[in-house]
Amino acid sequence: MCVHGVKTVQTRRRWLATAAIGGVTAAGLPGAVAATPSSLASPSSVAPPKDMSPREAVAFLQAGNERFAAGKTAAPNRDIDRLREVAPRQTPFAAFLGCADSRVPIEIVFDQGFGDLFVTRIAGNVAATENIASLEFATEVLGAKVLYVLGHTSCGAVSAAAKGDPVPGQISALFQHIRPAVRAARGDVARAVLENVRIQAQTLVEGSTVISSLVSSGKLVVAGGIFDLQSGRVEPVDLAVAGP
Ligand SMILES: [Zn+2]
Repeated sequence: MCVHGVKTVQTRRRWLATAAIGGVTAAGLPGAVAATPSSLASPSSVAPPKDMSPREAVAFLQAGNERFAAGKTAAPNRDIDRLREVAPRQTPFAAFLGCADSRVPIEIVFDQGFGDLFVTRIAGNVAATENIASLEFATEVLGAKVLYVLGHTSCGAVSAAAKGDPVPGQISALFQHIRPAVRAARGDVARAVLENVRIQAQTLVEGSTVISSLVSSGKLVVAGGIFDLQSGRVEPVDLAVAGP
């Protein structure tokens, strides 16, 4: 099922305008990677700068997705040398809550590699307790600067929660987390994907004093997006809990 309605929520142009969450443009960020075609695959644009601010880190992720969607993937940090470099110690610059869907591999979607992203994936990208615990570790202990909730079009978990039909085993355990989004979207699955990103992000912040204090102190930015399985682009989602 394709959720074209999501595209009406935020256009591609708006993505560029709000790339860093909060109205700061990617091009206006010192050291940030502007998502122009000529810069997509330049060598200097693909290694994560160590001194990135949280908002610059969001723009850096955006640039990686731009490369992927444009067919100009650089696939940085994916060789054995990089693995050995980060083997003693990891310092991922972003942490993710994404869906377990086989079509949404986070490192590929954002054109990153070993040691760059701390990724938790669970069907429906729901903020279950153990996921919150993992993301607290990623942000508080490892120092990730971005906490990113990534939903996607054609999400089977959201669709199943919206239908509410009987499902085998423990699958329905996921639904309790997704139903608030389905209700907010009044059953529209595409809209529910969007609302689910917002609600899970809100749960992460409001359900964790560790995460909320990092956000309020400006050390962490919360971002959200929806990965479009057709275009390969991540469309940003405005979040009330993004941070200052
Ligand atoms: Zn999904």
